[in-house]
Amino acid sequence: MAQAEKDGYIFYPGLTCFPSILGHEFSGVVVEAGKDARDKRTNKPFKGGEAVTSEEMLWCGQCSPCADGQPNHCEQLNEVGFNVNGAYTKYILLPVRTIWSLESLRKNYKEADIFIAGSLVEPTSVTYNAVIERGGGIHPGDRAVIPGGGPVGIAAYAILKRAGASQVIISETQQERADMALKLGADYHVNPAKEDFADRVLVITNGMGADMFMEATGLPAVVYPGIERVIWEGRTLLSTVVVTARAEAKMPVTGEVLQVRKARIVGAQGHSGHGNFPRVIECMATGMNMTPMSTKKIKLEELPENIIKLQTNRSECKITYVAK
Ligand SMILES: [Zn+2]
Repeated sequence: MAQAEKDGYIFYPGLTCFPSILGHEFSGVVVEAGKDARDKRTNKPFKGGEAVTSEEMLWCGQCSPCADGQPNHCEQLNEVGFNVNGAYTKYILLPVRTIWSLESLRKNYKEADIFIAGSLVEPTSVTYNAVIERGGGIHPGDRAVIPGGGPVGIAAYAILKRAGASQVIISETQQERADMALKLGADYHVNPAKEDFADRVLVITNGMGADMFMEATGLPAVVYPGIERVIWEGRTLLSTVVVTARAEAKMPVTGEVLQVRKARIVGAQGHSGHGNFPRVIECMATGMNMTPMSTKKIKLEELPENIIKLQTNRSECKITYVAK
């Protein structure tokens, strides 16, 4: 949101309404709950003191997509930290429908790490929704290629390894991001600035290509031709390309490649519904530790300088504001 296009307009193309307090990937403790606010984990009212996280999308629950079970496509959407006040603050008021308990993390995480992990549930759920819900998941033994080592791309390695991928390949130009992906489960790193992406993927996969690709770069015009070549020249049929990064740029697609290779491209948006949040929390509770993604902890006063720095310096994976 702080990043500008060449003409000075905001780079982010999604819903915003300023001024609003930023912060949309967060966790905290229930301080006070309405009498009808029920904890989905226990099916009992919140008592106060529970560790929780929240979806960022305040889907309305009443529009046609919501009523039809498609909350990620809500027609009356509000977004925490985008058009309503977000989490860079001490207290935040949220509807109980978007709140999910983090109490199951207590068994395997230290107190402070429960909240770090909790702040990573939202981006991890974006990925879960993309590769599992929209992309249809993978079979154990499948291969996956993820161009883009940002947080959503990095979460994909963890989820796909958890789902049984035999080879997960990251394509990323920045070494720090590649190292993070390797730490969280990626098997191979391709640097498209130094080597040909498609050639290298075909060598690593012994000419097979991949079952799953997730476009998480937001640069489809740059990245898609390489993906298309892997689908065309690789021997895997039925590949799925999931488009998950937002970008206004056109994607140069050759329809014939999709026909001949029986491949498909699907779009994925959002993190709500479909059991995404509770499943990600249970994965985290049982060994899928995403906390290494939080590479820097800062105080509230340090937020502005770090947001400005992130526009040009992406060496940190996630910078986390910790309230105390
Ligand atoms: Zn709605």
